[in-house]
Amino acid sequence: MKVDLHMHSTCSDGERSPEEVIELAANNGLSHISITDHDTVAAYEVAERKAKEAGIQLIPGIEVSALSDHGELHILGYGLDLSNTELKRYSKWRTHGRVHWSKQIVKRLNELSYSIRWEDCMERVVGTGISRTHIAAELVAKGYFRTINEVFSKLLSYGKPAYIERPQLSTKGAIDLIHRCGGYAFIAHPEIYDFSWSFHSLVQEGIDGVEAYYSKNCRETTAYWVKQAQEHRLLTSVGSDFHGETSRNPQMIGSVSYDVADVHQWIGHLQPQQLFVS
Ligand code: AMP
Ligand code: MN
Ligand code: MN
Ligand code: MN
Repeated sequence: MKVDLHMHSTCSDGERSPEEVIELAANNGLSHISITDHDTVAAYEVAERKAKEAGIQLIPGIEVSALSDHGELHILGYGLDLSNTELKRYSKWRTHGRVHWSKQIVKRLNELSYSIRWEDCMERVVGTGISRTHIAAELVAKGYFRTINEVFSKLLSYGKPAYIERPQLSTKGAIDLIHRCGGYAFIAHPEIYDFSWSFHSLVQEGIDGVEAYYSKNCRETTAYWVKQAQEHRLLTSVGSDFHGETSRNPQMIGSVSYDVADVHQWIGHLQPQQLFVS
């Protein structure tokens, strides 16, 4: 077994199609992966044939952008029942919502004297949904900023001048949705939030696990989150957060090492209805 449970396809802001993601995973010797697009499970509609061909076990997953009291936290869901109508509705709701929301962001940017066009941001979308990453990339291309990160920290992050609220689940709402879909909820990349947030609130809200093994962690932060998970009797997961070789998150699928005993145990116990059977 070789596992990576966090990666993006063109169904959100990844550069590779779901089929290409599966091929890359197979080439890197992975046996179990989860494609975790932002707020959508659309990748699984087209992944079937490829997964079968490549001999890869897909674990149906999603990365939900949820609102905590302090800012946006990403909640990963694994082992989801893809036939769940609520999940389908959520996926559609968030994808459609992005159109109006992204237009509002661009309008606000125009008011702030950044001269970009929504249509040009859309041109950057390869797959289904526009995200702030595409808008940030357009601002960088127009020479307003040097990096996408800079755009987020100055304009697009929660509470910044071009941050626009969108209908969104709370962290509790996201965890409950994942549970109703038969899945496990994990806090994604606990080290990368640029605001302070409450791990204990998530524990109280019923989070099942922590993405303790993450591509951008160092040895110490990994050890810290493994310990936190153990203390709270939570599961641990492993994720590269691959978005494509030339993206801001180029860490290759399967590049993150992890404690096999820790991660493989719960994956080995997933029920047939929590796996993607092709
Ligand atoms: P959205 O779905 O529009 O919220 O955008 C999600 C994308 O924005 C994800 O790829 C995030 O990793 C990225 N993102 C969120 N916050 C930041 C940040 N502070 N700096 C850079 N990228 C970010
Ligand atoms: Mn992303
Ligand atoms: Mn994330
Ligand atoms: Mn991600």
